[in-house]
Amino acid sequence: MLWQELYNQFRDQGQRGLTITALSGIDVALWDIKGKHFNAPISVLLGGRVRETVQAYATGAFRREGVDRVTDTAEECARHVADGFKAVKIKIGFGVEEDLAVVEAVRQAIGPDTRLKIDANHGYSALEAIEAGRRGAEFDIDWFEEPVIPEQLDAYREVRAKQPIPVAGGETWHGRFAFRDPIKTGCVDILQLDLFGAGGFTEMRRIADMAALRGERVVPHVSGTAIQIAASLQLVSAQLPNPPRRDPIAPIFEFDRMPNSFRQAVITQPLEAQDGIMRIPDGPGLGIEINRDALKDFAFAPSFGNVS
Ligand SMILES: [Mg+2]
Repeated sequence: MLWQELYNQFRDQGQRGLTITALSGIDVALWDIKGKHFNAPISVLLGGRVRETVQAYATGAFRREGVDRVTDTAEECARHVADGFKAVKIKIGFGVEEDLAVVEAVRQAIGPDTRLKIDANHGYSALEAIEAGRRGAEFDIDWFEEPVIPEQLDAYREVRAKQPIPVAGGETWHGRFAFRDPIKTGCVDILQLDLFGAGGFTEMRRIADMAALRGERVVPHVSGTAIQIAASLQLVSAQLPNPPRRDPIAPIFEFDRMPNSFRQAVITQPLEAQDGIMRIPDGPGLGIEINRDALKDFAFAPSFGNVS
């Protein structure tokens, strides 16, 4: 009811973007309070813990200035494998030829048994994405994430139809109404809702139900602080095996490996992967404690000169 009241109140300022992102934060906080009140993890309130651990994939490999991107990306991915990750995701979308050289070098560096995903961060046109997908498919790629800009649903469908790699996306769609057309018209194979962008636990359940009707896998997008990691772990713990058949596809969890001093500092017990596996906290609510002293260290104090 609170979700709906806030949504109704702010509709005129936008049904997506910052409005739904702010609403998502409030929603997650309210679920955390509810979990603490009932002394249960959010995953239990969502229906029950289907799993206590989840396999993580390492996200990283952004283009860095001043280095050779092909060798830099391959070396970074090899380090993730050495750290125990069985799956990695790299960034493309900077130009088809160079991107394919990176993909080939990464596949060689990680060997045939490590799973590989590519993410264009909506950096391609449909034609570029189709070419990259057709030529890149030989490197055994699990999914092709955000090939084109998320506003262009026609382009998503074209990419999905004209190249062989499963298409993923959804981290910039907000609220169930924004997900309706991408789901209804089959824009993606894998829907990557962001818990803190799609509307929090309350709205994500509705969107995940819609996606299940089409047989789309829901693999949450996770790139924020440890609070987002913790919340997304709660969601994944309660996710029913999908597709609903005898041998479902094992879920996989996005674990951002880009340097970020803020990410784990905001909580008292960091959430790290061990041999590529994340353990899902089972304490009440989100199952984490905020490190309020650390928050002060990162506080932003805008200066507007001498205002008295
Ligand atoms: Mg992405």
